[in-house]
Amino acid sequence: MTEAETFDVVVVGGGPAGATAAHDLARAGRKVLLLDKGGRIKPCGGAIPPRLMRDFDIPEYLLKARVNSARMISPADKSVDMPIKGGFVGMVDREDYDEWLRQRAADCGATRRTGLFIKISRDGEGAASVHYLPGGGSGETASVRARIVIGADGALSKVGRQEVPGAENTKFVFAYHEIIAAPSGEAAEEAARRCEIYYRGSLSPDFYAWIFPHGETMSVGTGSANKGFSLKNSVRDLRGITGLDASRTIRREGAPIPLKPLKRWDNGRDVILAGDAAGVVAPSSGEGIYYAMLGGRLSAEAADKYLQTGDARALASARKRFMKLHGRVFWILGMMQYFWYKNDTRRERFVSICRDPDVQRLTWEAYMNKELVRADPMAHVRIFFKDIAHLFRLVSP
Ligand SMILES: Cc1cc2nc3c(=O)[nH]c(=O)nc-3n(C[C@H](O)[C@H](O)[C@H](O)COP(=O)(O)OP(=O)(O)OC[C@H]3O[C@@H](n4cnc5c(N)ncnc54)[C@H](O)[C@@H]3O)c2cc1C
Repeated sequence: MTEAETFDVVVVGGGPAGATAAHDLARAGRKVLLLDKGGRIKPCGGAIPPRLMRDFDIPEYLLKARVNSARMISPADKSVDMPIKGGFVGMVDREDYDEWLRQRAADCGATRRTGLFIKISRDGEGAASVHYLPGGGSGETASVRARIVIGADGALSKVGRQEVPGAENTKFVFAYHEIIAAPSGEAAEEAARRCEIYYRGSLSPDFYAWIFPHGETMSVGTGSANKGFSLKNSVRDLRGITGLDASRTIRREGAPIPLKPLKRWDNGRDVILAGDAAGVVAPSSGEGIYYAMLGGRLSAEAADKYLQTGDARALASARKRFMKLHGRVFWILGMMQYFWYKNDTRRERFVSICRDPDVQRLTWEAYMNKELVRADPMAHVRIFFKDIAHLFRLVSP
């Protein structure tokens, strides 16, 4: 029998998390296999913040649109525009974006293969082998040996379910969107630079619905954790009320979005999770691309440390570092989702709060730069008192 090929790291999943991890490790001189099943465009709104473009050297030519405002629309159809001052949100098409990331990893020396991950096994000495179906289809399984495995295979991670205790208990929002041809005309040109976000129980009982511009196309979607709620009917209704029902539908697709970072991202031995596989999507907004890429980077650094020292405790550092950076924001966003997305009365008030200039400034600064703004403590105090006033209905929506 021929000896199986050995890699320092096998990265399962070539989305933003896995491609980033493979890129960073290959650039650090590690022998890396990037395994992706291929054949599917990740359903995604594709909104990315400037911080992501800076930290991960994303060229502007990958952007399909630059958004300079968000329109928040309340249950009573009141809308509040939140312009972005001095910046923009980038919109990417995941078909091109993910492929570009994977190719960048390969250009740095990672081996790319299309294959469907099946399982990890261990020999008598405990060394891991990764088994997969080449080409992502039927046929004979292939195997490679791995000193460490990074599971970046998305929200329903097979690697996680097999290797990391607790990974099977993740809770999800189910998201569904339709990619449609963007309408033309003057109003459409303005709409091509704006994200529209609908807070309305009939369109989502516990999340929100959206229209995101992508240049020649648009993503019209919604999400909910409520399995009885029809996401398809909701998108049909949203297209109806916005006059987008006549636009050509290009794709219809959906995927789960994890709601909470897992308590553990590694198995204490030779496997670590990153991105959706580790549950890292921001509550309230469902933003996951930046956090997936950061998770990929931190898991790559943890894996590299483990390979240098042989100490598997190094793997836990990825989660620790991530939560130190973003744990507080995730907690705040989780509370916001729990409180403000509960019913239409609260949604009405939530949209009304978004009219506040302090709320707008702090929201955009936090989104664009991924840091809580500490420079203006009085703005936080003002928001706190305005929030309280809304909670106790001292002001009308
Ligand atoms: C409808 C929708 C809209 C969204 N909109 C936004 C948005 O606008 N902005 C934002 O920031 N986030 C958004 N998100 C969230 C974002 O898409 C995810 O958080 C992000 O893609 C996570 O990246 P990832 O690399 O962890 O996982 P994924 O992007 O899911 O990548 C996982 C990869 O693993 C591969 N894979 C899976 N199983 C196997 C297997 N068995 N073997 C081999 N390969 C496998 C897949 O082919 C895929 O390439 C949205 C999500 C949804 C569902």
